[in-house]
Amino acid sequence: MRTPSPLWGEGWGGGRNIQGKPTALPTSYNIHYSQEAKLKNILRKLIPDSLWPHLRLGWFRIRGFFLRRKNGSVECPICNGHFHRFLPHGSERICPGCGTARRQRLMTLYLRRETDLFTSSKKLLHIAADLTLHRLVHRYSNLDYASFDLHRKYTDRNGDLTDLPDADNSHDAVICFHVLEHIPDDHAAMSEMHRIINSDGWALIQVPHYPDRGATYEDFSITDPQERKKHFGQWDHVRVYGNDFQQRLEKAGFTVRFVDYLAELTEDDIARYGLAGTKGFHRSEK
Ligand SMILES: [Zn+2]
Repeated sequence: MRTPSPLWGEGWGGGRNIQGKPTALPTSYNIHYSQEAKLKNILRKLIPDSLWPHLRLGWFRIRGFFLRRKNGSVECPICNGHFHRFLPHGSERICPGCGTARRQRLMTLYLRRETDLFTSSKKLLHIAADLTLHRLVHRYSNLDYASFDLHRKYTDRNGDLTDLPDADNSHDAVICFHVLEHIPDDHAAMSEMHRIINSDGWALIQVPHYPDRGATYEDFSITDPQERKKHFGQWDHVRVYGNDFQQRLEKAGFTVRFVDYLAELTEDDIARYGLAGTKGFHRSEK
């Protein structure tokens, strides 16, 4: 029997499910959760789920107003704001202008510098898109863009990633960050992404990933939120991915390479865009 994982990832969402599942944290879990999360849980009972992404973005914009500097030493490649500093949240660094995390800024830099996504005609499906990126990408008229989520109301489409209605080979690109660790049948989700991209297409996929820990650890008999937190690092995760994550993607049909994009950036870029310590992603092609 494997030892429960002691290391937990870059999460900073305070319990909000990246797929947008009901956001109130279970009471039994909250007893052991932070004061901040308890306050959030009280507020979530008072405020409709659909308003939260907008309130969160508004809150960051207010904070960003006071940290904005014309010649600030840090810059966000998503909202293009220049700031005195990013906002620390544990090891995370949040953009005070748009609320995005390091992994989203790294992904955006990669897409802008290393792909033609923003300059050519492409069809993109963005799984579990956050509100900021949903709005940003919609500004690109060259893109046939749809954001997608299980429940979030602001996304263009709602549905189940393990059973997409899209035709085979119908997309040029898929983005899927921090979703698969929530889905019991992740092979079905990977297979669906593989099915809908075309022969020149790609999927950028990122999960909390611990290759030094051995094989992926999953146990579907663990359903209690506190136990999931202990075993998988977050109350709504169903596994911890290990050194076989790439093989799992390949089993779904993908040709895969890990993109350690942080290692390709200069020290100046890493400091400027607040990316230190974040991890890369898997580029999966057909
Ligand atoms: Zn920003």
